[in-house]
Amino acid sequence: MAATRTSSNGGKNVFIVYAHPKPESFNGALLRTAVDVLKSHGHSVEVSDLYEMGFDPLVRLDDFSVDVCRVVQGEVDKVERADLVVFQFPLYWCSFPAILKGWMDRVIQVMSGFVRKTGLYEEGALRGKRALLSFTTGAPSIPFESLEAMLLPMQVGTLNVVGFDVLPPQVSLGVENATGEKLEKYLAAWIERLSGVFEEPTAELLTIDKWAKKHSVLILTARAKSDPTQAKHF
Ligand SMILES: Cc1cc2nc3c(=O)[nH]c(=O)nc-3n(C[C@H](O)[C@H](O)[C@H](O)COP(=O)(O)OP(=O)(O)OC[C@H]3O[C@@H](n4cnc5c(N)ncnc54)[C@H](O)[C@@H]3O)c2cc1C
Repeated sequence: MAATRTSSNGGKNVFIVYAHPKPESFNGALLRTAVDVLKSHGHSVEVSDLYEMGFDPLVRLDDFSVDVCRVVQGEVDKVERADLVVFQFPLYWCSFPAILKGWMDRVIQVMSGFVRKTGLYEEGALRGKRALLSFTTGAPSIPFESLEAMLLPMQVGTLNVVGFDVLPPQVSLGVENATGEKLEKYLAAWIERLSGVFEEPTAELLTIDKWAKKHSVLILTARAKSDPTQAKHF
């Protein structure tokens, strides 16, 4: 289990990975709000603004060795220092923007069992750290079942796999056409959430199998693709 570090003033260490090209976007407002509120509660905050950094999302051969490039190692160090990692991004095609997907492919991959030969889920290298997805959407509403399905590859298939305790997401719906009042409510809700983020209970760590059982999803094995009678139903 990763050690929980406290900053010199007694707060925790938070790392925010920000993936929006425009600083004046609503995502930018959510980022600045998060930095301010977390600091006001005595936490240390580090931010990686992926577009500003020109983060290269393409996986390199070196990423699969112990000798990764300086930029990726810098991101790995920030995750190592963090008690909580917040990902702030606009939803693109029901998923991460490509630059953030590439950050996952490179940074989380280095910290995963693929390179470190650690286990997955409960044995994952990042046990003891919290992760929180905060994203905005164009859609004014998303049915709960669709949201859960959409989150599967992001929360379970990426973050739970390496051992993160994933907190429920912070979703700001339909921000493009929202009224000023609605947007102010989103910012206020974000402030309230972050004020108590380290007191939030963590949920049971999900594996894809557990998720599937929970949702009674029809899992098709590779064999079942050619023989549907082999489909495994939990
Ligand atoms: C490639 C692509 C794929 C997409 N796929 C999906 C998808 O699958 N599902 C989906 O739902 N959406 C999708 N979208 C839409 C996307 O998620 C939204 O455009 C995005 O979430 C909007 O966030 P933003 O920060 O860019 O908002 P902005 O457009 O930057 O801001 C929204 C509003 O907030 C206002 N604002 C900014 N700062 C403040 C502040 N401090 N206080 C108050 N108001 C403020 C702005 O003036 C504006 O009126 C997609 C978009 C793209 C480009």
